[in-house]
Amino acid sequence: MTNKYMYFIANWKMFGDLRTLNSLDTVIKFSKNNKNTKFRIIYCPPNTLIRPLSKRFKKTNLEVGAQNCHESENYGAFTGQVNSKMLKNVGAKYVILGHSENRQSGETDKLINLKIKSAIKSKLKIIFCIGETLSEKRKKRTKQVLSKQIQNGLKSVKDTSNIILAYEPVWSIGTGLIPKSNDLLNSVLYIKSKFNKKIPKVLYGGSVNDKNIAQLKDISIIDGFLIGGASQSSKKFIDIIKKTFN
Ligand code: PGA
Repeated sequence: MTNKYMYFIANWKMFGDLRTLNSLDTVIKFSKNNKNTKFRIIYCPPNTLIRPLSKRFKKTNLEVGAQNCHESENYGAFTGQVNSKMLKNVGAKYVILGHSENRQSGETDKLINLKIKSAIKSKLKIIFCIGETLSEKRKKRTKQVLSKQIQNGLKSVKDTSNIILAYEPVWSIGTGLIPKSNDLLNSVLYIKSKFNKKIPKVLYGGSVNDKNIAQLKDISIIDGFLIGGASQSSKKFIDIIKKTFN
């Protein structure tokens, strides 16, 4: 049983509509009934659901985040884009940046760095995702990759107090695979070792579910979980939280 605040972040990706939000009533109730348990629940739905969700979460201790943002905090002619200021305006408190699904579609460390800076300016908290691919892991380049992603992603970011790291090995996302406990421990330790002044919270993400949480929660330096697929079921999401504290 852990004695620190654990983060449970639901990454809904491109799933969910207005009707889906009704299923969150059980999570709201669960959180109300467990006020003394040290957890923070943050839902990151598609942008279309940020406003209705933040309304629904009013007077609860659940919070809302976004899944990405444009790098400019100014308004501009960028068709289809939304910036950090707009997300903040509709109720987002957090934003996920550097997710591997966006890195795979061309997001570079440099662009992620600009997005992080813009989100800081808009006073959003950042969930900064890093992680190696399978081929990088096979070549034993995990630490090198993590180091480069941290260094470039946080280049000239002076205040990291609102940044939470999420270690998400690319090969574990949506595959049902999770790292061996010892490898995971080493990666999280390595990530924390990169920060000397203020050690950030480091979450784990990638195929977290209500079964493997029993193994994951034993790695006590992990500060919480970024949960994709399993977060679409309120029952599974609650189970993950319950089992983390058992
Ligand atoms: P997953 O996704 O839990 O479905 O593997 C995690 C993520 O992409 O953040």
